[in-house]
Amino acid sequence: MPNQIKFDEKMRKAIVQCSRCSFCRAVCPIFDLTKRPIANASGKMILLKELMEGKLPLTESVAQAFLRCTTCMNCTTNCPSGVDPQEMVKSMRKDMVGAGFNNLFKAMGETIEKYGNIYGETERHDWGRKKEKAPYTLFLGCVGTYREEESVQETLRLLDILKVDYTMVDEVCCSGVLEDVGYSIKEDLARRNIIEIQKTGAKTLITTCPYCYRVFKEHPSYKDLGLEVKHITQFLKDFDFKVKTDKKVTYHDPCDLGRHAGIYDEPREIIRKIAPNFVEPRRTRENAMCCGAGGGFRGAFAKESVRIARNRLSQIIEDTGAEILLTECPSCLHNFRNAKRQKQKIEIYNLTEFLAKLYQEKTSPAKEAA
Ligand code: SF4
Ligand code: SF4
Repeated sequence: MPNQIKFDEKMRKAIVQCSRCSFCRAVCPIFDLTKRPIANASGKMILLKELMEGKLPLTESVAQAFLRCTTCMNCTTNCPSGVDPQEMVKSMRKDMVGAGFNNLFKAMGETIEKYGNIYGETERHDWGRKKEKAPYTLFLGCVGTYREEESVQETLRLLDILKVDYTMVDEVCCSGVLEDVGYSIKEDLARRNIIEIQKTGAKTLITTCPYCYRVFKEHPSYKDLGLEVKHITQFLKDFDFKVKTDKKVTYHDPCDLGRHAGIYDEPREIIRKIAPNFVEPRRTRENAMCCGAGGGFRGAFAKESVRIARNRLSQIIEDTGAEILLTECPSCLHNFRNAKRQKQKIEIYNLTEFLAKLYQEKTSPAKEAA
């Protein structure tokens, strides 16, 4: 029988601080999908209070309820009382594992440890870009590498077109996601990444994945990295692009890039250079709705995750009538592409991938002939 949770001071204070106003409910993608009060941020706060006061026994279904969260942070941003429900969810997941409720992410941790990626893939990609030394090292992360290869190829092509002197390493999963799902980062993998990256002599590490960006930038296990860390949108924002599109373009803020890392302007600076016909969705920047991929949610509840992406995508199409949806996160991209219905004409790209395509259109023989 698992132990009960010992609520620390910080947790107790936050639980009392919550006024039960339910403002967080309206922005929670899980509530948007299920309409179940228990599945949203305020419902989780009530669960926590009942657990703390001993009115609710800690059961498997209570533990499951805390897995139903994408850690999108929309609740936190919209809480008038300054409560951070998503942080409490993450902390609760750890406490629950500590109390003996091993969740389904235990297997993911073992997979990451054994294979160095979240999918258990055994084939390593050779992107043909490795050099012994370069001023920049590019880090892709698991989702891009193993699930959005085509998009990655285009991003690499863009960096070649822009004549960026970069290299790549035999990367392994940054493993930061384990911290969100009740477990801990794999120190040996972090060490391997640090050693490989430092060997390149690079001064800057560029990440395409916003989650990897946060882990390299913030997690104590990467404190010895000793390089400047930039998300690819931060790196590219000052480039002078020689391409443009007349199409109506919109942008989805990934939760990990926007609310979690505060990077809202850089992607927009790039988009405004190339797309004069840019339109914001109604819920945008810090109020952007989640695509449903984060916080281990896609791994645990794949179907629901795609349905959340479907909701977000329909919202965006309705709000903007855009022909092109851009984002810059392999997880958002992957979820949106899985969610898109055939009848929906919108095209979905990572921004860097779209840029590479614009360069290709510009130089294609058909265009030249025209
Ligand atoms: S982090 Fe997002 S999914 Fe989780 S409770 Fe808050 S709003 Fe809902
Ligand atoms: S977490 Fe904040 S927004 Fe949500 S119910 Fe409590 S006080 Fe209201």
